[in-house]
Amino acid sequence: MTPETAKNILLARRDELLGNLDRIGDELDEPVPKDWEDAASERQGDEVLSALGHSDQTELRRIDAALARVEAGEYGHCVTCGQEIADKRLELLPDTPFCGNCAR
Ligand SMILES: [Zn+2]
Repeated sequence: MTPETAKNILLARRDELLGNLDRIGDELDEPVPKDWEDAASERQGDEVLSALGHSDQTELRRIDAALARVEAGEYGHCVTCGQEIADKRLELLPDTPFCGNCAR
């Protein structure tokens, strides 16, 4: 998969996760402050992350790290051994930093 494709997938998933913030706000019956989304679209502030569930936070960090690798031109290569990560694996886990061997 190309870095551009990966980036689109990662950004879409990121939006989805950040969309959870609105739902959390609804459930609490409190409006989500307007500046949250702006803050979230910049870098993740801790206060924004704390509003997300733990697994969502973890995923968001992985996505941000993957996006940083796209920008650095390192996306699709294992951060441990430098080997190319198989396309099939990236399709399943677009935010993975590891090849199949190193993830085991
Ligand atoms: Zn590896």
